[in-house]
Amino acid sequence: MPKLKVLTTRRWPAAVEEELARRFDLTLNKGDEPMSQDVLAAAMGEYDVLCPTVSDRIDAEVINGGTRVKLIANYGVGFDHIDIAAAKAKGIAVTNTPGVLTDATADIALTLMLMAARRAGEGERELRAGAWSGWRPTHLIGSALKDKVLGCVGFGRIGIATARRAHHGFGMKVAYYGRRPCEPDVGRELDAKFYPNLKDLLREADFVSLHVPGGGETANLIDADAIASMKKGSYLINTARGGIVDHDALADALKSGHLAGAGLDVYPAEPAVPQALLGLENVVLLPHLGSANAETRIAMGMCALANIAAYANGEDVPNPVA
Ligand code: NAP
Repeated sequence: MPKLKVLTTRRWPAAVEEELARRFDLTLNKGDEPMSQDVLAAAMGEYDVLCPTVSDRIDAEVINGGTRVKLIANYGVGFDHIDIAAAKAKGIAVTNTPGVLTDATADIALTLMLMAARRAGEGERELRAGAWSGWRPTHLIGSALKDKVLGCVGFGRIGIATARRAHHGFGMKVAYYGRRPCEPDVGRELDAKFYPNLKDLLREADFVSLHVPGGGETANLIDADAIASMKKGSYLINTARGGIVDHDALADALKSGHLAGAGLDVYPAEPAVPQALLGLENVVLLPHLGSANAETRIAMGMCALANIAAYANGEDVPNPVA
């Protein structure tokens, strides 16, 4: 049997690329530049398996660009950049890499929460600018996390992992919004309060952390109205997807002081960052680092590889999303 022809759209960790090359007829994107829509569409006719990432837009036009690809093995858990309906309509399987990046992403949610609450970005900028005049009791005063309410919007793998860190590590109270209550043992462990209504959660939380998937259903979920419902002096943390938040409304709330701060890892049209945020001191802006540690990035690659291997062997793929 000839080896499957596999295309990775960006560079992956070397250990994973080596294993992929050993097992499949692998084409790498050596320059690691994003591929154009035309190149992606053409790839649909040239390869058996396409391995995209969040930086690719696998829309219906790309998917209909050729008939050879039968598996889209995404490197990442979020798949809102892939038109799942278009893939399904062509009988193309789509897989993702859930679970292996949960801890890393929850770590970044806590990083953002601490940086925003303790004004770490502002402090670092001040120090590097040579503007630090020394310790004083009123300098760069932030907020404590202990006894504050963390409101998770979405309480799946990363939402729960974030709440665990916040509750057990920092003494925060946990509340969450979702479509259903969590498993009873998780609820008991975190003493977590369920809010079936988003606005009710937003009114109670001192820190709101977003953990729902991106895409149609959650687009602009945190709009101007939702932001107005948030407690005065509260914080918004987003490690989920940029399209969930209205960034103009967020910038207004940060400027007016309605929100004390925000911490963002994701943006609606990456790598562009909403201009209105760039000049504000009270927002922490990270370049989509959620899963960016060596162990996690290898585990994500090996997870994608396991999906390709199962498909190659005619077995059920372990992580289907379509
Ligand atoms: P998950 O386990 O599937 O959790 C998502 C949660 O959101 C589930 O509890 C789900 O509830 C809930 N949900 C889905 N749609 C909803 C809606 N319309 N309204 C309310 N709740 C809804 O996924 P995860 O592994 O935690 O990942 C969450 C997201 O984080 C990913 O989709 C991805 O976009 C993002 N992410 C970002 C990074 C980064 O680098 N910053 C890294 C990893 C992941 P149900 O049980 O009802 O479906």
